[in-house]
Amino acid sequence: MKINDNFEKLPESYLFSEVARRLAEYRGGHPEADVIRMDIGDVTLPIAPCVTEAMHRAVDEVGTAVGFHGYGPEQGYGFLREAIAEEDYKKRGIDIGADEIFISDGAKSDLGNLGDIFSQDSIIAVADPGYPVYVDTTVMAGRGGERDASGKWSKIVYLECNAANGFRPEVPTEHADVVILCSPSNPTGTVLSREELEKWVEYAIREKAIIIYDSAYEAYVRTPGIPRSIYEIDGARNVAVEVRSFSKTAGFTGLRCGYTVVPASLMATDGKGSDVSLRKLWNRRQSTKFNGASYIVQRGAEALYTPEGQESIRNNTDYYLENAKIIRDSMKKAGFTVFGGSDSPYVWIKGRNGEDSWSLFKEMLEKYHISCTPGSGFGAEGEGYIRLTGFNSRENTLKAMSRLK
Ligand SMILES: *Cc1c(COP(=O)(O)O)cnc(C)c1O
Repeated sequence: MKINDNFEKLPESYLFSEVARRLAEYRGGHPEADVIRMDIGDVTLPIAPCVTEAMHRAVDEVGTAVGFHGYGPEQGYGFLREAIAEEDYKKRGIDIGADEIFISDGAKSDLGNLGDIFSQDSIIAVADPGYPVYVDTTVMAGRGGERDASGKWSKIVYLECNAANGFRPEVPTEHADVVILCSPSNPTGTVLSREELEKWVEYAIREKAIIIYDSAYEAYVRTPGIPRSIYEIDGARNVAVEVRSFSKTAGFTGLRCGYTVVPASLMATDGKGSDVSLRKLWNRRQSTKFNGASYIVQRGAEALYTPEGQESIRNNTDYYLENAKIIRDSMKKAGFTVFGGSDSPYVWIKGRNGEDSWSLFKEMLEKYHISCTPGSGFGAEGEGYIRLTGFNSRENTLKAMSRLK
C-alpha cells in the first residue's frame, strides 16, 4: 500500500513540541526558576456545577432500562439543537433553525472534515498568521500544492495580516472557493467588524465562494457592535458555515462538544453546474463517518443554556479577559506593541527591538521566566511576534507580569 503523499509534504508539526523541548531544557539547567506557562491554548477553570450535575443525571439515566441511550440522532439530540437555535441565534435576532445545526465532538474535527465535501481543486484562503489546522488539513487533502522556502503553499491564498491592517484579513484580489475566517482570532486576538464581514459576504457572493466562520471565541466579544455570528450579516445564510465550540467558553476542551451551522439556503454547484445543498451533503458526510458526541456530554452542553450555565460562561470568559487585560496593559507599559486581548483571551505581541519570534521566546523565558508561543509557528507573517494567553490563574498572571517591571 502507498501512503497519502500529502502527509510527507507537511513539515513536522514542531511548534508546541519545540516549545516544550526548549522549556524542559531551560528548566533542567535552572531548577530554581519558577516558569509560568503562558504558551498553552488550554483553559484552566473547572466545569460549571450545572454541567456536572446534568452529566451525573445522564449517567444515572443510561444505567436504567428506560433511560438507556444508544446511537443518537445523526445531527445531535433535538434538546441541544433546539437550545442552541433559541439561545445563540433566535434570541439574538438571527434566523437559524435547529435543523441547520450539527452537534460535533468539537470544532477542530469539523474544521478538518468540512474539506470532504469540497471539490478536489478548490482554492482555500486562510489568514496568515492563523490557527494551524486550516493549512495542515488543506495540505493533507491535497489542496496545498508545493511549499516554498518561507513555508507558504503554492495553491493556498494567504490573507496577510500585519500591523498595517491591524491583523485583520482583507478581501483579496484573487479568487478563492473557500475562505476560512476566525474572529476573535487565534492567535492574534483581533476581531472583524460588521463592515469588514459585510465585505467578506459580498466577496463570497461575487466569487461564488463559501465562508467557513470559526467563532470558537465568540463568547469573549465585549466591544459593542462587533458581530458574534457571521449570520448577523445580511446574505450570510447563503454563503457561510459557522463553526463553534464549548471548549474555550465553558471548559469543554476535555469533554469534547461543539457544533456547526450549515444553513438550508447554502448552495454550491456540482460538476454539471447544478445547485446542491451543502446541508444535505454535510449530513451525508457526518452520518457516514461520525457517530455523534455522547449523550452524557450533550446533556452537559444543554445545561449551558440554563441561566446558571450562561452565567458560568460569562464568569469564565470575564476571568480570562481580565487576565488578558493585565497582560496587555503590562506588556504595553514595558514598551511592547500589543494587539488583541480585549475581545479575546489572546494577546499578540511584537518585540521591542525587532527580534524574531524565537529570540523573543528566549528573552521572555530567560529574563522573566515566562513561556510563550512564537508567532512564526502560526504562519510566515507571525514572525517577530509572540502569543501570550489569559488561560492561567489570576495569581500566576499577576506574578508573571510583575516580573516585567
Ligand atoms: C481551540 C480552537 C478550536 C477548536 O477547539 P475544539 O476543542 O476542537 O472544539 C477551533 N478553532 C480555534 C481557532 C481554536 O483556537
